[in-house]
Amino acid sequence: MEMKKNRRGFLKEAGLLGLGAAGMGSLPGCTTEETGTESAAVEKAWTSDPEWLKVKYGEWSGPGVPVGPGPMDHVLVKDYAPRSSVIAPQTFIPKAKFPVIDVHLHHYPAQEKGKRPKEALEEWVKTMDEVGIEKSVILTVATGSQFDMMVDFYLNSYPDRFQLFCGVERNDIDKPDFPERAVKELERCYSLGARGVGEVTDKGYGITGDPRLAPNERMHFDDVRLDPFWSKCAELNIPVNLHLADHPSSWQPPDVFQERTPIFQQFNQYGSDGVPYDELLNYLPKLLTKQPETTFIACHLANLGNDLQRLGETLDTHPNLYLDISARDYEVGRQPRAAAKFLSQYSGRVLFGTDMGMDKGMYQGWWRLLESADEHMPGRSWWRYYGLELPDDVLLKLYRENALKVLNWT
Ligand SMILES: [Zn+2]
Repeated sequence: MEMKKNRRGFLKEAGLLGLGAAGMGSLPGCTTEETGTESAAVEKAWTSDPEWLKVKYGEWSGPGVPVGPGPMDHVLVKDYAPRSSVIAPQTFIPKAKFPVIDVHLHHYPAQEKGKRPKEALEEWVKTMDEVGIEKSVILTVATGSQFDMMVDFYLNSYPDRFQLFCGVERNDIDKPDFPERAVKELERCYSLGARGVGEVTDKGYGITGDPRLAPNERMHFDDVRLDPFWSKCAELNIPVNLHLADHPSSWQPPDVFQERTPIFQQFNQYGSDGVPYDELLNYLPKLLTKQPETTFIACHLANLGNDLQRLGETLDTHPNLYLDISARDYEVGRQPRAAAKFLSQYSGRVLFGTDMGMDKGMYQGWWRLLESADEHMPGRSWWRYYGLELPDDVLLKLYRENALKVLNWT
């Protein structure tokens, strides 16, 4: 059936096929075959839909030119890559202005195809030297023998260039000995060199991320079973990197109003039965209030980079909260004035991180975004970025001083 093909093709484009329980329920505009309205929805004439016009054109209320079929109608959103004709300064910043501590990385050398991990690690250190990264913090998410392997891999080879965070024990969370077991494993990892915990993720199914668990079996950040663990982090003076929720667009349907490009729809969880975005966000203030002695770093600007006002209020209320800016280039890059103001106002609270692999150009893209005043730069989303031109004192804190303060280096 044609309608079925449409829906499958649509899901495939959106990268959503086979997401199962963690995936989506029904899609708006893609109703069931029985009703027979799907193809009508797919072919809907959006250009005359009042809501569509408002979202797309705002106060302009339309394109101001006649609307009709055109030679670009075959181009798909996922392929669209407009070549800019703007003639403006393009600043190349090969190396960061100050030595940088990158607080958000993962075990990338193991993912390099066609290279031995050690070889990839050596190349990474060379790149770090070239772009001005003094230290990289690996959020291993690992415990047990997996963590031991990371210690051997990073700390024995480059003790001055890498720092490790360990994970939280995730086995048998329903057993009565879990709280004690989790604390013991943390102490063990600490004795081997772990200087933080992370990243601890909850995108709606609790920290094990298991969609098969019933809602009352999931372990969210404010779960009493985790209390001794967070307290132990405070006692050891190590921070916890938290990943709460995700970009808000992940809870919006993958339709014409979806904010992020098709490639990001692999993270879409619209219609999933996990905790919804707004409710998820409440776990952070609850945890921060409950554990005032523990230092938390909410990564990706706490997934509130789209609402800097609310993010600032959260920082005002909770002195034990810090942020990392990793993977939110597209948030600060699209609101450069507000973001520069925010980063200045909260200059003691935001840490630099990337979370995007080991590519030299990726690092240099960050320097251009944060240090230059360039305009209309290509970025990772459909919108372009604008340089924040951060002053030296703000850059210094963001790049290294806050990390030196928050992370336990000794
Ligand atoms: Zn990460």
